[in-house]
Amino acid sequence: MHEDTGTPQRPAPVAHRLAPLFDFSSIAVVGASDSGPGGPRGFRTLQALGFSGPYYPVNNRATTVQGMKAYPNVASLPEVPDMVLVAVPSRFVPDVIDECADVGVKAAVIVSAGFLEEGGDGAELQARITATARSRGPLVVGPNCLGLVSMVYRCAAFDGALPAHTGNVAVISNSGGLMNETMWTGGPRGIGFSHCVSCGNEAGVTAADLIDYFVADPATDVVLAILETVRDPALFSEACTRARAARKPIVVLKMGRSEQGSRSVSTHTGALAGNDAVYAALFRQLGVIQVDDLDELVDMGVLLSSAVPILRNRRLERAGVIEISGGGKELLCDTCAAGGVELPELSQAGATALAAALENRYPATNPLDSGGSWGMPDKDQVYPAALEVFASEPAIDVVVSRYTIPRVGELGRLSNRIEELQAARTAHPDRLFVVLSRTTDQWCPGWGEAVHTHHIPFLQGYGRGPRALGRLAMYSRFVHGPAERTAAQSPQPVLSQPESARPLDEVESKAILAAVGIPVVETRIATTADEAARLASELGYPAVLKVLAPEIVHKSAQGGVRLGLADGAAVRQAFAELEAVAVSAQATFRGVTVQPMAAPGIEIVLGAQRDPQFGPVILCGLGGVLVEALNDVALRVAPISPEDAEAMLHDFRGGRLLAGLDRAALRQAICSLSDLMLAHGDLASVDVNPVYVYPTGVLAVDARVQRGAQSA
Ligand code: ADP
Ligand code: MG
Repeated sequence: MHEDTGTPQRPAPVAHRLAPLFDFSSIAVVGASDSGPGGPRGFRTLQALGFSGPYYPVNNRATTVQGMKAYPNVASLPEVPDMVLVAVPSRFVPDVIDECADVGVKAAVIVSAGFLEEGGDGAELQARITATARSRGPLVVGPNCLGLVSMVYRCAAFDGALPAHTGNVAVISNSGGLMNETMWTGGPRGIGFSHCVSCGNEAGVTAADLIDYFVADPATDVVLAILETVRDPALFSEACTRARAARKPIVVLKMGRSEQGSRSVSTHTGALAGNDAVYAALFRQLGVIQVDDLDELVDMGVLLSSAVPILRNRRLERAGVIEISGGGKELLCDTCAAGGVELPELSQAGATALAAALENRYPATNPLDSGGSWGMPDKDQVYPAALEVFASEPAIDVVVSRYTIPRVGELGRLSNRIEELQAARTAHPDRLFVVLSRTTDQWCPGWGEAVHTHHIPFLQGYGRGPRALGRLAMYSRFVHGPAERTAAQSPQPVLSQPESARPLDEVESKAILAAVGIPVVETRIATTADEAARLASELGYPAVLKVLAPEIVHKSAQGGVRLGLADGAAVRQAFAELEAVAVSAQATFRGVTVQPMAAPGIEIVLGAQRDPQFGPVILCGLGGVLVEALNDVALRVAPISPEDAEAMLHDFRGGRLLAGLDRAALRQAICSLSDLMLAHGDLASVDVNPVYVYPTGVLAVDARVQRGAQSA
């Protein structure tokens, strides 16, 4: 899966429009100097990679830089360079990019800062760069970044320390510092990198573009992305969908999730951080693995770089754990449960074989407590036998060995265990073998070497390790789920004219739901008590009356709902009371709605909001009058396929109440709501609370639609 740095083999170029960024043979550095961002460190980085192409310093105030001839500008170079690294103050950068466009440079990396992240003039400078890059210019990475490294093509526009190894993991990061940290932490953990890009403010090339390239790149199997925002949700979704088809996992560490974090994001690279819950929903929908910090990101790089080739052919969801301690076994049961890792019981045959190998000294269970140090002489028999049993179990996909790794000194007898592990891996190439340590502690140099030479997927910590395995299992379920996802239905308009902003009343709102096929309880308006009584007897008793007043949004909270009215007298009295409710709330009394009492069902809330960045976001959750207090909901970004809708029903706790009820009708209602929002850009929000779910069918008993949004 990965090779040592220094192999000069240069693979064939990838047929992709971003190829010039990663595979270039000549580079000019605008703003080259004897120190600073355009200084000799970048040149040394190139040398370390074995880059032998021309390197042109460009500096309009010096004739030599770093002992080399300097040129006053890009146009005066003896040839058009493949790549231009720009490291001059921000105010000069747009002209440099224009010049690159004029002479036909294909790729540029801008490390200078002082653009969108500073606002004002900076934002304007960045807009000029974007305009040139989009219309006629080079591919632009940055500005406000630390550049990029291609370990595969042995070239870089970057002046930092290189990753230790070449391999199948690519990194994309809005933050240069966090990209560096990922490369530097990943190396000792055994991760080899294909390409690492810090994309900064994404004036030209975006994270979505880069994902698209990595999907096409045969050298990359896994993408680790550190993102402040998703600048182009449509392209991002498309790229992630292609990544899923190619079985290349994308792991995202999304920053700016807290309110404070999102403020610092907007000052950091000028990103407009979207709502965290919507991001999480989108990532789930796209099968993107979301992690919470850098350690977890690196853990996923470690695990997936070995798992992906196996995962292409089989599921990797259930684990067998070979422990050496009773406490560890107990704790692992807890942390695996918390991390969503299934630990299947051994089969009868497996348990018998294991019991024999253990000479009945330890219980033959999963997890196995094999009784103390790997250095004990009996482990020469016990460990290989345990590996063989676990790897032969039909219900075990991932075999985890928990090692106590010497912190200092030599590996000692652990070397034998590593050899036995390697033998088991060779014998069972369709299983994933992982080593887990107890804590995120230090280890002796020999272990680091073993991890690297044997490509041992090494997870650290009883908590973090199972969390990574749980995320792998989730991804496995996603890629091995239904292959063909049903296309979302094509949205058909049901409303005539776009309207100015206004909330629609309950009757108008229900009419819109009915038009897209969501069943609603029949609802009429009465402006007098007599009319209310007449309608109630027409619709059938028991009846429901609700106040109709535009200012009263939460009707029941303000005493505006009367349920279970048995006869005309009760209806007349309710009418009078509701009028009094409107008067005392100083609301405009427009009458009441009259509707029959619906049979009780499970109360679900359906909703839709138009997110400024992602467009329509659909919500489904536990409904009723406590919806806000419970906040037990699932979100998805439209368009929503029936599979997405089904996944939503598993995504909130109250979804369990739907067992035995008409989930298909509810899925249909969710998809119809998604279609409605897509077909009508002027709908701002829809709130259906509650919709009753029955053994057969669903029925909306309350609805509120807000018109008058800008199309998004
Ligand atoms: P609001 O949400 O504005 O307070 P609703 O119209 O949702 O008002 O009514 C409040 C509650 O009354 C609902 O959550 C539901 O439990 C019940 N309810 C409303 N309409 C009906 C109906 N037609 N049949 C049965 N129950 C109803
Ligand atoms: Mg309601």
